[in-house]
Amino acid sequence: MSTDQPFRSGAIRDPRLPEPDFPKQEQPFPGLASRMDPLPDHGETSYRGSGRLAGKRALITGGDSGIGAAAAIAYAREGADIAINYLPEEQEDADRIIALIKAEGRKAIAIPGDLQDEDFCKSLVAQTVEALGGLDILVNNAGRQQFCEKLEDLTTEDFDATMKTNVYAPFWITRAALPHMEAGASIIITSSVQAFSASELLFDYAQTKAANVAFAQSLAKQLAPRGIRVNAVCPGPYWTALQVSGGQPPKKAAEHGKNQPLGRPGQPVEIAPIYVLLASDEASYITGEYFGSVGGGGL
Ligand code: NAD
Ligand code: MG
Repeated sequence: MSTDQPFRSGAIRDPRLPEPDFPKQEQPFPGLASRMDPLPDHGETSYRGSGRLAGKRALITGGDSGIGAAAAIAYAREGADIAINYLPEEQEDADRIIALIKAEGRKAIAIPGDLQDEDFCKSLVAQTVEALGGLDILVNNAGRQQFCEKLEDLTTEDFDATMKTNVYAPFWITRAALPHMEAGASIIITSSVQAFSASELLFDYAQTKAANVAFAQSLAKQLAPRGIRVNAVCPGPYWTALQVSGGQPPKKAAEHGKNQPLGRPGQPVEIAPIYVLLASDEASYITGEYFGSVGGGGL
């Protein structure tokens, strides 16, 4: 399922299409976008930039696939240099995105590693700043979502892994990054519609996504006097590896987004423009906010 028409061309596009037709599928965590059927659309052939982030330097966690990959491609086409982080087992997906960034003539730095490790989070920022010569845009986007039907079955290890990945890592990374960020810099965190309507299957995950909204709201107030903006993005159902690698029961993942008014899940490229806007100087009066893209169901 590829969205043939360019998104930013002014061409009229029917938002109900293409209709979902997803075979049941399952992968081990963290999953590979390149093994999904149909392949998610990260904007590989469709996203067109117009220099909105010219010369900026960005770090995107989870930039190998899904929403982070769509942001990475869009940022490169808008003129930014980019470092992406991902888990070592996702190298294949990361290689594709790195090649696409380089094809735009931008710097593309691949820094694999586990965000559950505080020391790695510090070193991720240090390596990014060293390679890019500074940091203007930080996108805390990596996330862990593993469904669990009964609270009694949710282990402390699982709960801890979700908290570490989704709550601690953005704190560790942002704390390490701030000394390198100047007035005009932008911090973005990927939350979820789950922050506002928590699924019975996502007890631990939903709590972390509510924390992500509070992260943006609190930090935006703290950093406004320094001229650094902070915002959250709250996606609804998007077609990404997260959903087919334990994020949902396989039957539900195949129907992901079907119940939204638009009748389908979003493709990662469809949320990239929000990440571009929030990172750009055009959003200079936008901070402490959260933005939904849920397919009609609302936040
Ligand atoms: P994705 O699987 O493509 O991306 C998630 C990424 O998180 C992975 O690629 C992986 O690199 C990274 N990650 C997970 N654990 C990690 C760890 N310990 N160390 C380093 N990296 C780690 O899926 P996606 O849907 O694009 O997810 C991106 C963000 O969007 C997540 O924060 C997710 O919670 C959020 N989100 C997704 C949806 C959806 O329907 N797809 C909805 C709402 C919110
Ligand atoms: Mg991935």
